[in-house]
Amino acid sequence: MTTTWILGSMGWMPARKQQTACVLVELEGELILLDAGTGVANLGLCADVLARHEHLCVLLSHYHLDHVVGLMYLKRFVANKRVDVYGPGTYAYPRSTADYMADVLQPTVYASGHMGFARDVRYHDFAGSRFSVGDVQVEVRSQRHSSPSFELRLNDDVVYATDTSFAAEDWQGVRPAKLLLHECWQAESRDPRHSDVRSLASGVPNAFGRVVLLHQNPAWEDAERAEVEQLALSRGFELAYDGMAIEG
Ligand SMILES: [Zn+2]
Ligand SMILES: [Zn+2]
Repeated sequence: MTTTWILGSMGWMPARKQQTACVLVELEGELILLDAGTGVANLGLCADVLARHEHLCVLLSHYHLDHVVGLMYLKRFVANKRVDVYGPGTYAYPRSTADYMADVLQPTVYASGHMGFARDVRYHDFAGSRFSVGDVQVEVRSQRHSSPSFELRLNDDVVYATDTSFAAEDWQGVRPAKLLLHECWQAESRDPRHSDVRSLASGVPNAFGRVVLLHQNPAWEDAERAEVEQLALSRGFELAYDGMAIEG
């Protein structure tokens, strides 16, 4: 049984009562956070889930602030746990995940520092395109963005693809998963660093069981939001909201 909770469904900045990139997944006895944006502030919604685990794993798609600033909120929720943070690091960047987070959470900026938000904090760089977290097989895949960002796959249960443009040819022959969490930044293709719902609606393979759209755009006017919703609904996609729980 896999359960996924959307804790932050917005990109860039909180807006419309939606926090930035953060998804909690419980599967195979592991508790895994996909990105650590301001949505970490919503972890209190999952207090009973947190209580079941001594260990939290955080997988970072990339290091943009809307995906990592919530690491400093973790102290409120997991101060007595072990936390392993995985990021691209030297797999794709000049420096390690530990180095980048030491910069972002330097003590001048955050008093507890990058090692101080839990009982035992350990940083790891992606050890190739496939690695294990307990009994969970993690696969990462390079995406199209302004900095190297990675699609994160947990077994064949969850695929999380945010901060990327969408190209149908990238998805031909890709093993489907029960749940695809995909970015939707715009209705029509404009910004090549991000995806548009028209391309998603025509190009996502039908084999994905359920498609939920997140990393929504805080700058949407009502008209664009309505267009996004209409395009998404026409294909059976759902728009994520904070607190959304997805079973199975
Ligand atoms: Zn982002
Ligand atoms: Zn980004």
